[in-house]
Amino acid sequence: MQQLSDRINNLPVSETLAMAAKARELKAEGKDIISLSLGEPDFNTPDFIKDAAKQAIDDNYNSYSPVDGYLDLREAICRKFKRDNNLTYSPNQIVVSTGAKQSIANIALVLLNPGDEVLLPAPYWVSYSAIATLAEATYKEIPSSIDTDFKITPEQLEAAITPKTKLIFFNSPNNPSGTVYTESEYRAFAKILEKYPNIYILSDEIYEHINYGQPNFSFASIESMYDRTITVNGVAKAFAMTGWRIGYMGGPAWIAKACTKIQGQITSGANCIAQRATIAALDAPVSKIQFMVDEFHKRRDLVLELLSEIKGININTPKGAFYVFPDVSSYFGKTIDGVTINDAGDFSMFLLEKANVATVTGGAFGAPDCIRLSYAASTEDLKEAFKRIKNVLN
Ligand code: GLU
Repeated sequence: MQQLSDRINNLPVSETLAMAAKARELKAEGKDIISLSLGEPDFNTPDFIKDAAKQAIDDNYNSYSPVDGYLDLREAICRKFKRDNNLTYSPNQIVVSTGAKQSIANIALVLLNPGDEVLLPAPYWVSYSAIATLAEATYKEIPSSIDTDFKITPEQLEAAITPKTKLIFFNSPNNPSGTVYTESEYRAFAKILEKYPNIYILSDEIYEHINYGQPNFSFASIESMYDRTITVNGVAKAFAMTGWRIGYMGGPAWIAKACTKIQGQITSGANCIAQRATIAALDAPVSKIQFMVDEFHKRRDLVLELLSEIKGININTPKGAFYVFPDVSSYFGKTIDGVTINDAGDFSMFLLEKANVATVTGGAFGAPDCIRLSYAASTEDLKEAFKRIKNVLN
């Protein structure tokens, strides 16, 4: 008899990873699938970072690292926060983890009690809600739509707050919509939150460098928010290091200490070679990775152009990250090629089956009218994918 816990039975699978796995499976069966499901740069990790990792192996970095990360890495993270985000942290306010996903899970697990409420401006990354569930909290979505560029308003934020609200997630540039909040928009949220001193803010800034307009503004740099904001970041997206699994948080020392405690019982310190490589990544000038950002920018423009040729698709202009998040609801209720499309999940499956293009349903991100397509893929693949989509839809 299989007797799994309620905890795991109540946990949804990660739709991003599930779709990527499905695409891999179909490819292995010989199908010509183009996967636009996973948000993963198609570049190789830059050589100067790989060299630092090789050096670390030769220097015998093979033992357990401190649970919260090497001190010189945490110092490098402090320098990065100062340089890029105008945030002053000391190393005891930093915890290095196995990916930003673990940083987020640590924070949720150390702050949330059963029954606490988490606010998720929608659309939001799939794992936020799952992690809140894992922490036995409830979550409330604050909806937005393509008509507001997927932004919520301060009024919506205030209306969603209850005495049980403990944590709110901000994520700019946003996965999946690519929306970027401006400094003045963030300051308006801060004004509301100043009235509710028991609410903490998790600001996920993993896409900060993949930004096509105004520079990233860190929520914690608003003075009144510094003491209750935890900033999460990592090297996966900007440095093409997804598989190296290094994320980190900066925030109040008492929260960092608690994150270290929980991490010490679950995974210990993150991979030591990857930590050494991360020092090289973070100490390098941001100009070293600009070529990737420029390339993503070009691909975004290409994808917007290709999408504009497809009927019934409503699209905004994402200002960052590497996703487009079109509203496909005009297709709901229609039958194409013998397949009835009732929701974004059906639409995404339709594209997989009829066009051999893998995407992710917006339902997983709290936006059931949309689907997500990652353009962190080669120009050639993007052109072919959108040609196929156009063929099956037009
Ligand atoms: N964050 C990426 C995405 O949204 C990687 C997959 C994941 O961990 O969800 O596609």
